[in-house]
Amino acid sequence: MPTEPTTGYDPTLGKKFIFVTGGVMSGLGKGITAASTGRLLANAGFDVTAVKVDPYLNVDAGTMNPYEHGEVYVLKDGGEVDLDLGNYERFLGIDMTSDHNVTTGKTYQSVIEAERAGDYLGKTVQIIPHVTDDIKRRIREAAEGTDVCIVEIGGTVGDIESMPFLESLRQFASEEDDEDLLFMHVTLVPDSMNGEQKTKPTQHSVKELRSIGLQPDILVGRNEDHLEEQTKTKIARFCDVSTDAVFSNPDVDDIYKVPLMVEDEGLDEYVMERLGIAKSALPKAERSQRWRELVTRDREGTVEIALVGKYGLEDAYMSIHEALKHAGIEREVDVDVLWVDSDQMHDEHTERLEAADGIIVPGGFGSRGTDGKIDAVRHARENNVPFLGLCLGFQMAVIEHARNVLGLEDANSAELDEETPHPVIDILPEQKEVDDMGGTMRLGAHETQIEPGTLAARIYADDSCTERHRHRYEVNPNYIDQLESEGLAFSGTAGRRMEILEHEDHPFFFGTQFHPEFRSRPDRASPPFVGFLKAVVDRSESETEPQSEDEVTI
Ligand code: GLN
Repeated sequence: MPTEPTTGYDPTLGKKFIFVTGGVMSGLGKGITAASTGRLLANAGFDVTAVKVDPYLNVDAGTMNPYEHGEVYVLKDGGEVDLDLGNYERFLGIDMTSDHNVTTGKTYQSVIEAERAGDYLGKTVQIIPHVTDDIKRRIREAAEGTDVCIVEIGGTVGDIESMPFLESLRQFASEEDDEDLLFMHVTLVPDSMNGEQKTKPTQHSVKELRSIGLQPDILVGRNEDHLEEQTKTKIARFCDVSTDAVFSNPDVDDIYKVPLMVEDEGLDEYVMERLGIAKSALPKAERSQRWRELVTRDREGTVEIALVGKYGLEDAYMSIHEALKHAGIEREVDVDVLWVDSDQMHDEHTERLEAADGIIVPGGFGSRGTDGKIDAVRHARENNVPFLGLCLGFQMAVIEHARNVLGLEDANSAELDEETPHPVIDILPEQKEVDDMGGTMRLGAHETQIEPGTLAARIYADDSCTERHRHRYEVNPNYIDQLESEGLAFSGTAGRRMEILEHEDHPFFFGTQFHPEFRSRPDRASPPFVGFLKAVVDRSESETEPQSEDEVTI
């Protein structure tokens, strides 16, 4: 965490790079392994950053469907990036920029633009050296000002798309001192039918890596359990590393425990020795206590939160799940997320919604499932269930109020119904000029002014907040007076943009046009999530003690 002391890294040691590749198959948790390694180095006092390389042709993740790629994570500079960057920000406690997500699309776009501008006049523009030089430049620039840079190569070794990136790493290895680079390969070690840990897939993937000129220094084997000693020995023998360079990364119930587990394996010590920085590290006893205290803190009870969205996939709402966990750490309560499909609001989905202690309506695009979201808002409002509406969820709360409290029939967002007689959510004139879909929304960190004396002011304990945005539509300025006439208040604004809403006569009804989940960290939970969870806990406590009618105070 940034609050921990640093050792004052000796610059003569040189900048260190840890390259992380994946073998056998994707989805092994390579990003979490890499981020956990980074966390341990940060715990040891080093300034750590990360770069995620995504070998797809999209320039950024902004136009990608959450079904295929999980959520689009938003950085403070407005970068729409792969969700792994969210893990790096949360694990390392840092704010990254778009430059920390290198894609094939970005690289080719700048090489081709330079070619058109005549920067390579006379030359044939090629993958080697022009694309690989651009990749190396991006990695070096992103590492600027830090001690250690972790570079995770997305995909699996052997994918055709990742070739130019792996070739860049090979060149890196010949350009930097041995001691400044470390190659970590995360691979699958499956169990056979009779429960034996099999090393063959790892051997093949290391062979593939070596055929392109890369020799791993460290191998991390993913299996449900710890790798057995003989498995490690076998991997070491076939892959030309020593046995103490082979590490386990067994399944754990909480990703934030991975740093503690790989620390127990001695991965951090090995990495620091190998990079020649062990002597600059904080003493072992001072390193991980804070992290350990955070992730092992006792919890009292469990609350159930309904997440009402259209993607039945945890990754599509990853930052919300994480922000709930962080608020759970702060409030010392376990959080169970109940998935409610807003497109199938019947049977078990309605039951889950009705059983929930609190309701979140998250962000989203397009009309599918929006009727279910509006019904969920109504349920929360009418039954005094704590409610948190995020981005599209905020807009749904405005529409619900317009329709069911103000009686504006068929009120809607112009995004969802162009013909609506009451476009209470609409596009502002500047967005009407926009033609391209990529990178053109209102993106990134913007300041919101908070009205004193409101729930928002209590939640943020401040008269302003700066949170990340990703939206095109806004509360229609022509409807603000009318919308505020019956108990709803816009308590946070940015000029003529409405940013926060709340309901006066409800214990906790809070909506934000921005996405507070993107700034939440394990040690710095997001204020709206903490406030929401407090209201949820207070409500479930008062339900178990029916006489108590304490007001909810934040
Ligand atoms: N679709 C809405 C808009 O563009 C909300 C976006 C979101 O939830 N991220 O304004």
